[in-house]
Amino acid sequence: MTLNLNISTFSDIKNIAKRPFVIAGPCSAETEEQVLKSAEAIHNSGNVSLFRAGIWKPRTRPGSFEGVGEIGLEWLKKVKENFNMPVTVEVANALHVQKCLKAGIDVLWIGARTTANPFAVQEIADALKGTDIPVLIKNPVNPDFELWIGAFERFNKAGINKIAAIHRGFSSFEKTSFRNTPMWDIAIKLKQILPELPIIGDPSHIAGNTELIPFLSQKMIDLDFDGLMIETHISPKTAWSDAKQQLTPFELDELLKRLIVRNVESTNINFKNKLEELRKQIDNIDEEIIHKIADRMKTAQEIGKYKKDNKVTILQVSRWEDIIKERVFLANALGLSSEFMEAFLPLIHEESIRIQTKIMNEE
Ligand code: PEP
Ligand code: MN
Repeated sequence: MTLNLNISTFSDIKNIAKRPFVIAGPCSAETEEQVLKSAEAIHNSGNVSLFRAGIWKPRTRPGSFEGVGEIGLEWLKKVKENFNMPVTVEVANALHVQKCLKAGIDVLWIGARTTANPFAVQEIADALKGTDIPVLIKNPVNPDFELWIGAFERFNKAGINKIAAIHRGFSSFEKTSFRNTPMWDIAIKLKQILPELPIIGDPSHIAGNTELIPFLSQKMIDLDFDGLMIETHISPKTAWSDAKQQLTPFELDELLKRLIVRNVESTNINFKNKLEELRKQIDNIDEEIIHKIADRMKTAQEIGKYKKDNKVTILQVSRWEDIIKERVFLANALGLSSEFMEAFLPLIHEESIRIQTKIMNEE
């Protein structure tokens, strides 16, 4: 994939001394009092860099609370004035953008349902031309990596360089213990392809409940995410949207206090030496594994020729079943899980079949 994004890391999130960059605030702005009380408590903690509140809420089904609308912008202006805290709002169309820019909202965010729609993303990007407001882009609701990348590109083409990604998980038909499955591979791939792009984790929308939020937050920090967006409400039980997943400002503080922020690097020389030694071991083991796999494939090739000469099929189900049983047994005895072997062995087997099929089809 060729990607040529010009990203001037939003608010220098990548370089701020205080990791993680924390965004907190209620799912929705409900009343002036609720917004200001939530903001005051969040501000007093001293741990939060940006206050969030949704005023236009993209609800999956009609009939639930769809946000207070424009009046919420007035409340957010008061948050800025009273607590000197920058604020962020979700925008889903050009009109929202205009209203937010007029109200002096500091940062915009694009919701997961909007990122999934290139027309909406383009409309918002066009409305932002000529500004340099930072934009946080949530992953699309569906696990479509290209669609997420496409949104970064659309904003970038419109001249927006201050962008960051928000990983909020992906919806699925299947019921799982998460409200939205994390699919960590997608976030890791994004880090690989765009290392300069800050990634903010949204454990609230992945979890869907408060219990999993500390675990997910720690996991995100351990995956070297740059920040966290955590829904925080002065009275979660009475929240008008996402009541089950919002923390109180006190709970947010406790979570942040317990968070262990590990760095990608350490200056401790003993640590560095030990790590280097262990990494060399890993490199050597990987090399051995690859050599062994190559040897195995060569043998599979020989077997393929032999089967061909004797007009025998590539697959013998009973042999394959025996292999799985024996290898899983051995792996278990060595402390490896059955799940791992059951995922790993078919990959090897498929490659052997591919090699033998090629031989069978040769003239
Ligand atoms: C939200 O942040 O409140 C929200 C609506 O999130 P998402 O777009 O991730 O569903
Ligand atoms: Mn929400």
